[in-house]
Amino acid sequence: MLATSFFGSIKMKFIIEKTLATGGRLGIISQANRQGNVTLETPMCTLFTKGGSAPHLSIDMLRRVAHVPEVAVMSLGALADHHETVAEFGKGLREFTAMSNPVIFTTLHDASAAISPGKNDNSGVAVWGKGGKIKLDTSLFMKIQESFCPDWFQAMSDGDTDVSCGNKRLVKSVDRTLDFLDEIVEAKNKSEVLSKSSLIGVIEGGFSETQRKRSAAETVARPVDGFLIEGFEKGNRDVDLFSLPDFTKILSFTLEHLPTDKPRIMETVWSPLQVIKAFKLGVDVFSSAYPHILTEKGLALVSDYSLPPLSQPAKLELQTANAKNEETNGLYIDLHNSRYSEDFGSILPGCSCYACTNFTRAYIHHLLKTKELLAFVLLTIHNFHQYFEFFQHLRLSLKSDRLNELEDYLSQQLNSGLDR
Ligand SMILES: [Zn+2]
Repeated sequence: MLATSFFGSIKMKFIIEKTLATGGRLGIISQANRQGNVTLETPMCTLFTKGGSAPHLSIDMLRRVAHVPEVAVMSLGALADHHETVAEFGKGLREFTAMSNPVIFTTLHDASAAISPGKNDNSGVAVWGKGGKIKLDTSLFMKIQESFCPDWFQAMSDGDTDVSCGNKRLVKSVDRTLDFLDEIVEAKNKSEVLSKSSLIGVIEGGFSETQRKRSAAETVARPVDGFLIEGFEKGNRDVDLFSLPDFTKILSFTLEHLPTDKPRIMETVWSPLQVIKAFKLGVDVFSSAYPHILTEKGLALVSDYSLPPLSQPAKLELQTANAKNEETNGLYIDLHNSRYSEDFGSILPGCSCYACTNFTRAYIHHLLKTKELLAFVLLTIHNFHQYFEFFQHLRLSLKSDRLNELEDYLSQQLNSGLDR
């Protein structure tokens, strides 16, 4: 029996402005925060954080980045240890971390870090922080959420599954996640603090259509405000999900079993081309863990997302005279490479970010060689700027019916391995 909340609440709403034949939606999330005064456009990405702040960036440096997402994702793994301090502080996680993002979204796991498998059971799930493993049961989980006071929070879930899992394991993953959800809904209904927070239900079921359908139907029947889809890769973050047989089919099937009036979130779809594929099937909200992962490897995004005006020839044709470069995949470059040691151009000519307008490839190459932390500061600024800009262009391409053109243009850049 599902009780309705005793406390009145502002409900997050998802309004669709346009739907593609493939299932993708151009949408608006209104009343997105606890105060009900934030509106977000989808498709969108969230701001990836490490321990409650943008990786490598002070709050002042983050202000130098354009189009910073309004939703900041903070994983419990990094922060659960501090919940008593945050509770004592008494003003929730946003004030505690001094982040200016109006929407704070707590998730279980750091989207950039691999997760050790086999640590969940019927009593709870394991998350990882600096101090190691933390085991959460629903009671501790809700205590933490009450002290953090997030605008959105992911329900506790057992997403420790992948393509190798048999039916028995998948049934267990779906059952556990639903049992956790029931306990969370019951506790949330009794919590005045969390009455204005949006609860994100989690869809499991690995690569089984039967279990995905069951997980979707049962989660939809509970009072959740959005959906997070996981359970495809057992926390192994180096997988391109679209390269796995049947992934596209299963994701599409899962999305068809979710209602259209609530946002769908995926944290493990990363590169711009993967984002476009998942968006086309109906995913609305993505993580910005990808630019962070590139930064940690010394890689810089150099893709061009801006479509030329319809009257001009495609930009790529104008550039194909450039030599082939085997160290790039056409979408990013590796600034560790000695070929940049005397390259006094910016990371990406034309990029308006703070790193590109003030520093050269040669200088960042030198910083990487000498292991100076400034290299990661500058790369974070550039990669975030480019990734956030991609979402701007993605929405523009949808509004002007040019999504396929953008996808083709990015595929050509990926395949060309252009020298940049
Ligand atoms: Zn830049």
